[in-house]
Formats: sequence, C-alpha cells, structure tokens
Amino acid sequence: MTGQTASFHTMWRELRPLGRDASSGGYRRHAWTAADADCRAWFRAQAESRGLAYELDRNGNQWAWLGVRSYTEVAPGAAVVTGSHLDSVPDGGAFDGPLGVVSSFAALDELRRRGVEFTAPLALVNFGDEEGARFGLACVGSRLSAGALTPEDARELRDADGITLPQAMERAGYDPDAIGPDLDRLARIGAFVELHIEQGRALDLTGDRVGIASAIWPHGRWRFDFHGEANHAGTTRLEDRHDPMLSYARTVLAAREAARTAGALATFGKISVEPNGVNAIPSLVRGWLDSRAADQDILDTVVKEIERAAEESAARDGVDLRIVRESFTPVVEFGHALRDELGTLLARSGGGRPVPVLGTGAGHDAGILSASVPTAMLFVRNPTGVSHSPAETAAEDDCVAGVTALADVLEGLACT
Ligand SMILES: [Zn+2]
Repeated sequence: MTGQTASFHTMWRELRPLGRDASSGGYRRHAWTAADADCRAWFRAQAESRGLAYELDRNGNQWAWLGVRSYTEVAPGAAVVTGSHLDSVPDGGAFDGPLGVVSSFAALDELRRRGVEFTAPLALVNFGDEEGARFGLACVGSRLSAGALTPEDARELRDADGITLPQAMERAGYDPDAIGPDLDRLARIGAFVELHIEQGRALDLTGDRVGIASAIWPHGRWRFDFHGEANHAGTTRLEDRHDPMLSYARTVLAAREAARTAGALATFGKISVEPNGVNAIPSLVRGWLDSRAADQDILDTVVKEIERAAEESAARDGVDLRIVRESFTPVVEFGHALRDELGTLLARSGGGRPVPVLGTGAGHDAGILSASVPTAMLFVRNPTGVSHSPAETAAEDDCVAGVTALADVLEGLACT
C-alpha cells in the first residue's frame, strides 16, 4: 500500500461508523445533530494533527489553514481552497460529501510527500448543512456565507419537529446570532476546487476515473397541494368523490412524460396525505416536485407542462389546486479560466489524455460559491451512478486517482 492509499484508508475507516444507521447501512448526518458533531470533531482532529490552523466561521463552516493562522492574514484572491461537506441526506451514502473532504486531507498529505513548496495559502473546508436534510434548504452554510440566504430567512427554517435553525445551532453549542454574509472571507479566495463523487454514470460510460464539471443544471422544488373532500372509502360512490389522490397520480405520470419528451428530469419524491387513513378518501394530497434540465428554457417548458396537466386533472376531479415554487437555483456555469486550467494540469499529469468535462443535475456548495469565487469541480467515477442511497459506491482505485488529481491541481494552483 502506498503512503497515499494508506492516508486515504485510515481517514475513511475512522469516518465510516459516524452517523451510520445500523439497520439500513445508510448515513444520517443531519445538521446540528450528534452525528454532525462527531463528523465536525473528526475534521478538527484531522486539521490539528497536520498542524493546520483550525477556524470555525460565523455560519458553522469549518476551515483548516496551511501557511496562515486565519483568513484575515490572506491577501485578497490569494488563497486556494478545497473541500466539500460531511453531512448527508436521510440514509445517504458514504461518498457524497465525505469523499471531497477526505480527499482534501489526503491530497495535502500527498503534496507534503512530494516535498512541494506552497506559494499560496491553502485551506481545507467542510461546509455545514449542504444537503438540507433537516431544514429543507440545501447549502445553508455556503448560502449564508455568500449572502445568498439572509440571516432573517435562515432563522425561520424549521425541522420536522418544529425546532428552528437557531435553536438547533444553540443546542449544538454554536452562536446563531453570528450567522450572516462572510464576503470578506470569500474575497480572500482565488480558487475553490470541490472534489465530489459523480452522481451519474457519465464517467463510467467513457471509462474515465476523473472528470471536470462544466455546469450545474438549473433546478427547483415545487409544492403541489391538491385539496379534495374527505369521505368514507366504503360508502361514497365513485361518481360522488373529489379524490385528490387521483389528480396527484395523473400529475406524477404527466411529469414523467414531460421530462422524457424534453430530455429533462422530474421527480415527485415526497408526499403527504391527510387524513392518511386506509379507509378514508383524502382531503389533501401534497406532493413535492423536483425538476432539473440542461437549460432554463427546457426546465420552464417541463414545469409549465406539469402544471398544466395538474390543473386539468384537478378540474376533472373537482379538486382545488395550489402550486408553490419553494426554491429555485439558476444554471451555474463554472468559469472557463479555472476549468481550462484544471484541464491543462490534469492532461499534463495524465500523459496528455484529455479529461472529460461534464454537466451535472446535482447542486453543490461549489455552485453557490461560484457567484463570488472562481470555482471548479472534479468528479470521481461512480460505477453504478447511484447516489443519495446506502448503495452509493466508488472503487478504491478511482478514489485514489481522485486524490492524485486533486493533488496535481492544488500543486498547479498553490505551488507555482
Ligand atoms: Zn454532495
């Protein structure tokens, strides 16, 4: 086992049990929970064991600095930053997030082994609450820092038990009064590179271990409330019903068809039903649509078609419909200068073989930061494409190739 592989393995083994559900094998590392605290303690210990200066920012994101004691010592645009997130979706996989954080430390170890000299300050980062599993909004840590989420709006976020974000932060020992934009810190960053497991099979299909991101597709979440009439399932004639489940079901099928026709994605993955009784016609069916497409026009067309189908279906059933757009993230095109630089660096270290450039339908902290910081992403091959599931996996060799690629990129950006 090479030093690089050993360093990766040791960290992976330590992180593996944290926040893992014994029955499903999936991860429940939700923001400001005990599992989250364990992951944060792990990050801090990794930073300190390498002699890095540990720093917690006002929004609960963790930073580990090489070459300086704090971001305040960094000149504007001088820092090179890499990292990802350690939190997970409910029953998430081991790789989404942690692969990027572990690879950051492993890449630093590799650069130290190479004996390179750093000419720029380097930071490793763990962004808090990336998945939004607890409070329903993704990338809360990076959104707050970039000013893409106001502290006032963040304070209104509640989890399923009614606990607000400030209450959750306070219980975890953090100061919720401090949250807000951190633009001075971000202004010190000249390049942010996030390594992430690919959440599709593009690299598997081209036979490449590592790729570079071109863009994050525009994506959004819409809530469809179908209000019908509760009644007895055993005594109400079919002709007399106003059953919102029927309207909802037709809308799900229409969403699939609209997405298929347009080459987009549309998913109803969450639903709530009232009164939720086996022998009751529902009074309310509430379904959440997640839709994504390669460009804004396609996404608009798909969502409009789904809304039209839902309205038609609701009218047919005598059901009232209300549609609310709960969140929307426009397309993120990563800056070509940094992206091309990564391509050049990796082609050079890879013996001239060009590295594939691919788009993704998944959101990331890198997408949020790209509005204020030159940002790029590296993807590591996912042989099954499965993500947000305990079955998510990556081959050991591919993970190590990802660490090498990240080290090559950081060497090119921070050591010249
Ligand atoms: Zn992720």
